[in-house]
Amino acid sequence: MARIDLNHIRHAYMPDPKSDADYALKEVHHTFEDGGAYALLGPSGCGKTTLLNIISGLLHASHGELLFDGKDVTRLSTQERNIAQVFQFPVIYDTMTVYDNLAFPLRNRGVPEADVARKVHETLEMIGLADWAKRRARGLTADQKQKISLGRGLVRSDVNAILFDEPLTVIDPHMKWVLRSQLKQLHRRFGYTMVYVTHDQTEALTFAEKVVVMYDGEIVQIGTPAELFERPKHTFVGYFIGSPGMNVMPVEIDGRNARLGGQVIVLPGAPKAKAGGSTELGIRPEYVRLGSEGMPVSVSKVEDIGRHKVVRASLEGREIAAILGEDESIPADPKIVFDPAGINIYANSWRVETGG
Ligand code: ADP
Ligand code: MG
Repeated sequence: MARIDLNHIRHAYMPDPKSDADYALKEVHHTFEDGGAYALLGPSGCGKTTLLNIISGLLHASHGELLFDGKDVTRLSTQERNIAQVFQFPVIYDTMTVYDNLAFPLRNRGVPEADVARKVHETLEMIGLADWAKRRARGLTADQKQKISLGRGLVRSDVNAILFDEPLTVIDPHMKWVLRSQLKQLHRRFGYTMVYVTHDQTEALTFAEKVVVMYDGEIVQIGTPAELFERPKHTFVGYFIGSPGMNVMPVEIDGRNARLGGQVIVLPGAPKAKAGGSTELGIRPEYVRLGSEGMPVSVSKVEDIGRHKVVRASLEGREIAAILGEDESIPADPKIVFDPAGINIYANSWRVETGG
């Protein structure tokens, strides 16, 4: 497996020399460490597939360079890059048997037939298709075909990295969970470099050690699930991760005080914010305490989400979400307090440190 360096990668499908607007990837400068399990998370259209295809060589970036273990592979073909890639929809040979579909990438590389048999059976066992080895792929369900695709991606252990592009979209929810935990086990056992693309935060947070969040053609934050949750670097990360996402509201900063309409919120420290631009306060619903002290709010909606309730309230004319625990109730004259531990300050959408 290899370490993958993306150096100042930019990509435009239809380049317009006069404008930056049509860059599907604006500037990606990032290292996937050898043996790391990464999730690439972001909304539809943010550039995830473009980035994977640039790593595998299906696409050549308009600018920038790509290194595997320090070696420049920018101009190498897909074959030469030696990457396994699993796509969102099945890519298999319908007329071949399940066994031959998995054997194909190995035979293609001249692996001896005895080793092919061992690897294919091992992989079929793992994806739950051991009994289907002799069946032709044609008659199988979409779900089973996608498992074959997954198997084809996992059957070779000599690749530089394995890339997964929303591979479990067509798989049923229970099997999704099973396959995902198998991928994690595989990672632990063999130390593969894995990049797993998804737009589903639960999938990303459960699969990866490091989550790479993309937004509008750029990487906005790389972190552990806890870091993304507690300290979103960009307001987008705050909205996108968590359910409901982070509350974000414009404030005026004066030292350690943040002014929101007629209310003053005391911050954990004065923000080291740049002057000018908009300043916002972000706080997750988990850190908004609803009780009989603090800033007055009016409650507009209560949603039951199982063990907790999401309360939507209006604070100084803006909607704010709070989480109410199982045994808590809404007081007659509701007020809220922001737990300082959960307060983040943003200048022009980017988080600024607070101190002193
Ligand atoms: P994601 O995988 O995150 O959904 P993509 O990488 O597929 O995003 O797409 C990123 C952007 O590039 C989108 O705006 C998309 O419309 C555009 N795009 C993707 N593929 C092509 C293509 N073949 N030609 C032109 N534009 C494309
Ligand atoms: Mg995609």
